[in-house]
Amino acid sequence: MSVLSESLCLHKTVKKHYLSLAKDAECLVTYVWIDKTGESVLSKTKTLNKEPAGIKDIPEWSAGWMIDGYSIEVTLVPVRMFRDPFTLDPNKLVLCEVFDSSYEPIGSNQHSKCAQVMEEVKEFQPWFGMEQEYTLFGLDGNPLGWPPQGYPFTRGMFFIVLFSGSCAVGINKVYGRDISICHYKACLYAGVKICGTNAESLPSQWEFQVGPCEGIEMGDHLWMARYILHHVCEDFGVVASLDAKPIKDQNGTSGCHTNFSTKKMRSEGGLQFIKEAIRRLGKRHFQHLRVYDPHGGADNMSRLTSSQGSTSSFNDFSTATACRNVSVRIPGHVSQNGRGYFEDRRPAANCDPYMVTRALVETCLLGSTGEDDDDDEKIMAP
Ligand code: ADP
Ligand code: MN
Ligand code: MN
Ligand code: MN
Repeated sequence: MSVLSESLCLHKTVKKHYLSLAKDAECLVTYVWIDKTGESVLSKTKTLNKEPAGIKDIPEWSAGWMIDGYSIEVTLVPVRMFRDPFTLDPNKLVLCEVFDSSYEPIGSNQHSKCAQVMEEVKEFQPWFGMEQEYTLFGLDGNPLGWPPQGYPFTRGMFFIVLFSGSCAVGINKVYGRDISICHYKACLYAGVKICGTNAESLPSQWEFQVGPCEGIEMGDHLWMARYILHHVCEDFGVVASLDAKPIKDQNGTSGCHTNFSTKKMRSEGGLQFIKEAIRRLGKRHFQHLRVYDPHGGADNMSRLTSSQGSTSSFNDFSTATACRNVSVRIPGHVSQNGRGYFEDRRPAANCDPYMVTRALVETCLLGSTGEDDDDDEKIMAP
């Protein structure tokens, strides 16, 4: 570990003293919002004179927003409240939307539009579960635990590591389990609907799952889970990257598989509704790829290469049961039970869950049946 990273994570136990100082009646509220790029989160904290009972008790706030080199003021509007797992009760984390001075959603604020569409389809009771993959880096810029040059262990072992697939155990195969488990506990404390975690195929690559969440809840909970991840990583002196292809000249990519169902899909005979939804998705492959990463498909172009047996091809839509190198998969148990959900494997790790969940309901539940949908324009390499 470099000198810089050692000093940054020095003596975190010292922090315990300050956090243990007697509490008073006040409540610290940390406002969290999505930055201009739509890929990272920002936050700032203030005191409320009493604990808020709900989101309505948390006032709007403002923040600076850079546009073309100058800063304008934007309004932060609280949308969902969580417990603060870092400074503990009664303190809160609150996810916010960002609006300009005329209360128009600004820049990367996709919450409003998503909430509106989810309201339109609420009788379908749409559920989502998202599998967030990420890769840990040290402050030296290398994947956590990797030597400055080359690969962990011998080159030979590295290949074993790479192809050992996800869920590996052992210090020669995985780095950073403490971070994954501390993040899990912090999300549970906060009230984020996290439901699992596992090591991923690259050493220092991890995944956590959030869900099932209904409607707009999915985006809100995943964004807060990401905030908590970045904060936990600060405490460990490491950085979590949600890049779709975190290590440029290596195999190994990060996705955010999105599982989706409606009440009908979950009920007896649901498989036919799952198949119909997938048929519709097949008609709009590129329309979905345009919103499944923050760069209009460019990130997924380097991720969905179908080279490793676990990603599909960027240029073609594919589907299968109990098979993982396809765009959309029906899990084996769903096919056996004749009901459940399907998995869209195309969203990249850095996707905006508001855009992904909205695209899914727009294609599968709203709009045309796709019969005359021939305008799915291909995305060309730059
Ligand atoms: P995989 O086998 O693809 O690795 P995971 O176990 O990592 O699957 O993730 C499964 C995800 O599916 C979880 O986020 C979970 O919340 C979600 N899920 C489970 N049931 C449903 C459902 N009925 N509708 C939507 N999502 C669901
Ligand atoms: Mn998974
Ligand atoms: Mn995975
Ligand atoms: Mn998956």
